[in-house]
Amino acid sequence: MPDPAATNSPGSPEAQTDFIRDRIRADLAAGKVRQIQTRFPPEPNGYLHIGHAKAITLSFAVAEEFGGKCNLRMDDTNPEKEAQEYVDAIQEDVRWLGFEWDQMVYASDYFGQLFAWAEQLIEKGLAYVEDQNAEQMAKGRGTVRTPGTNSPFRDRSVAENLDLFRRMKAGEFGDGEKVLRAKIDMAHSNLNLRDPAMYRVRNLHHQRTGDEWCIYPMYDWAHGQSDSIEGVTHSLCTLEFEHHRPLYDWFCESLGIHHPQQIEFARLNVEYMLTSKRKLLRLVEEKHVDGWDDPRMPTIRGLRRRGVPAEALVAFCKHVGVAKVNGTHELSLLEYFTRDWLNSRTWRRMAVIDPIQLIIENWPKNDDGTPHVEWKDVKNNPQDEDAGTRAVPITGKLWIDRDDFMEEPPKKFFRLGPDREVRLRFGYAVKCVSYDKDDDGRITTVRCTYDPESKNGKTSDGRKIKGVIHWVSQEHALEADTHLFEPLFAEADPASFDGDEFASILRPDSRRIVKAMCEPSLKDAKGGDAFQFERVGYFYCDPKTSEQGSPVFHRTVTLKDTWKKQQGK
Ligand code: ATP
Ligand code: MG
Repeated sequence: MPDPAATNSPGSPEAQTDFIRDRIRADLAAGKVRQIQTRFPPEPNGYLHIGHAKAITLSFAVAEEFGGKCNLRMDDTNPEKEAQEYVDAIQEDVRWLGFEWDQMVYASDYFGQLFAWAEQLIEKGLAYVEDQNAEQMAKGRGTVRTPGTNSPFRDRSVAENLDLFRRMKAGEFGDGEKVLRAKIDMAHSNLNLRDPAMYRVRNLHHQRTGDEWCIYPMYDWAHGQSDSIEGVTHSLCTLEFEHHRPLYDWFCESLGIHHPQQIEFARLNVEYMLTSKRKLLRLVEEKHVDGWDDPRMPTIRGLRRRGVPAEALVAFCKHVGVAKVNGTHELSLLEYFTRDWLNSRTWRRMAVIDPIQLIIENWPKNDDGTPHVEWKDVKNNPQDEDAGTRAVPITGKLWIDRDDFMEEPPKKFFRLGPDREVRLRFGYAVKCVSYDKDDDGRITTVRCTYDPESKNGKTSDGRKIKGVIHWVSQEHALEADTHLFEPLFAEADPASFDGDEFASILRPDSRRIVKAMCEPSLKDAKGGDAFQFERVGYFYCDPKTSEQGSPVFHRTVTLKDTWKKQQGK
């Protein structure tokens, strides 16, 4: 589906304008607002995912662009599923993305004010206490085609409502026995305005307010009022709240309080990724992944452990921009921004992920008969002179990648095959003279001779050599666990699957762990370091499982878009 927001090709300057920024400019020009205030309001009931990264980027970037401020607000009105663990993780993830909030606030900070405002609505005859149970209320609500019916409790007196509401707060009723409802219009064409619930009785302990409250505000009641208290000017949220905006407006107008402008934008969807905390929780609970920070998870911490730089994720979110229509972005777009950022910044290293041995038969020996070792001084990053160099040893016994040899290569295979010659990266030209196979017919060893005069791109007789392959000296190789990833799901749109189907579309090979043969300087890799393994991809040294001298690498992304090729696209 074409994405209406993606007007630029990757890498072109970001779109400077969209309907949200236009609206803000207009409000500033008209003098409706002076200082822009936004907020990011997650519910602390799970870890943030890539969709939240977009909402965060938008709210923080908009505030920054207009010289305003952005709050981080925990929408902690539903203690059943919320926990401090999530509150901490959310803060960490927002900071990791590179954003700093103005105020850290909690909807629960406003419980007292919300209660007082609810009393005001009762006094104005705009709210009442309902005795019907959930089922009766749902029935009375009507449908899109049929109007609802008034509750038998709708016309209670103000005094009775106030008394009952205070008794709800005092803990006199059990869960579900009483509900405070706004008194709007049971025949309204928008079902959200058919006397929506404002408070329900929930005898639950709250992670912050403890046992102080046994009634908790509904989202629609808590959200807009929290925005109002904080002086939010533009409350940016996803499209599913569009039909809630009239209620948002009704509450602010009825109370006569500061009235923020709610503006909706499309949710971010990315191919092969789920962006629902509930479904991600299922993946974790059913142990399809190792946890919320599994590098295959579309959570912010999963992407982080995969090695996606925060800057790349933010650049991606800015590039996709805001749209008014839901759409799905290609995974390759995120990969593009990831490569783009890593390319100019990462140190180059050589590592062989599917090794076969290459023996150079005419490699010299030292006078004492030991194999000769030649150390090469090699740049860490050819694009960055300041990145320095490292020493790479070459010997007569190397590891090369299985893919770099073919028994019967086609003409345009510029790597090794019988009688073919190739250049070793930073090294000499080698020519295949024979090869060995194991009992299963798999290549184990390629035997070559080398041209001692083929240093620095030359050859002894000026012949040209097209291909260059990477290699690692066997004697010096560091063996490192290396994780190679594919998307978790076999289907591009996993969100459309549910129930049992959901597990059946998981790819069995979404993670493959191999022993890579790495050049010795990688012994010094520290958790959090990123590298380009030449010709193989970008790799991230996992802070969680790596130990000193024994790194574990996660492949963040391949060098080219091989995934698409595999799919035959
Ligand atoms: P989930 O369905 O994963 O639980 P949510 O919307 O319930 O998501 P919240 O914690 O309430 O999660 O979300 C905080 C903010 O992030 C909201 O303003 C919401 O609109 C926004 N958000 C959530 N998912 C996405 C997404 N896929 N794309 C853009 N914004 C999102
Ligand atoms: Mg939500």
